[in-house]
Amino acid sequence: MVKNIYEDQNYPEAVLPSCPIDKKLKGQTAIVTGASSGIGQSIALAMGRAGANVIINYISGDEALKEMVPEIERCGGKAIGFQADVSKEDQVQAIFAKACEEFGTVDILVNNAGLQQDAAFDEMTLAQWQKVIDVNLTGQFLCAREAVREFKKSGVKKEVSCAAGKIICVSSVHEVIPWAGHVNYAASKGGVMLMMKSIAQECAPFRIRINSICPGAIKTPINTEAWSTPEAQKELLKLIPYQRVGETADIARVAVWLASDDSDYINGTSIFVDGGMCLYPGFATGG
Ligand code: NAD
Repeated sequence: MVKNIYEDQNYPEAVLPSCPIDKKLKGQTAIVTGASSGIGQSIALAMGRAGANVIINYISGDEALKEMVPEIERCGGKAIGFQADVSKEDQVQAIFAKACEEFGTVDILVNNAGLQQDAAFDEMTLAQWQKVIDVNLTGQFLCAREAVREFKKSGVKKEVSCAAGKIICVSSVHEVIPWAGHVNYAASKGGVMLMMKSIAQECAPFRIRINSICPGAIKTPINTEAWSTPEAQKELLKLIPYQRVGETADIARVAVWLASDDSDYINGTSIFVDGGMCLYPGFATGG
């Protein structure tokens, strides 16, 4: 049995530097969807700390904005909260209209909003199927389409980036790992994968980059029951060769990098940030 070194060392929570000196995203505007909690919140703060202006989209939980807005402004960017349902076309268009009105254009979209509605397959209602597809897949389509329209209109602004715009889709390891009891969710993320790659192929000539981040198990409200008790955590770690549950900062760091020119030649790729969850962990001792 491999020893879990993180248990022994009381491994510190992965945190982001509070205000990096190197403001890689200075002068750029980022829209982050579903950003009042979890991964989206961490990405919005990290974009702000890297110097971007941030539109913090949320559907509920606006109390989080009371701390997020001043924190982003402390680091030199501006931040605005905007309530909208990403599965509704007119509301998505309103997010982009607000961003352009406040900041002139949009440079970065982070398609993060998502949810689960779990059920055994033969008990899954059409409403559960439809809700998850509407938010996780159609929501990402609506936001990406609006972003591409804006990026094509604005073109490359050399003073801020060598790309006309960047889109980051928050997908999941379940874009490739089947997931019993979560068929709607896995189908939505599988859809995000080929949507993202097809957009990348079509829009690359316009200097538009789109990539996905595929988180493994990250501690957020979406999956609290999977990590909040020692028993649950022990079960979860069986699926994670790196033997620690992910932190939202693990994802936020990659998002900032994907939004920056440091990753300029990366397009149409899914980056798995999962501690090795996709490595068929069962085969470490069996097979
Ligand atoms: P979360 O529940 O904290 O975040 C999801 C956010 O989306 C919430 O703030 C929620 O209010 C928002 N949202 C839901 N429906 C919306 C809508 N119609 N319009 C706008 N916003 C809406 O959970 P999270 O883990 O931070 O999830 C963020 C993303 O990461 C999701 O796409 C999720 O599928 C993905 N993900 C998470 C994990 C994980 O382990 N936490 C793993 C893989 C993928």
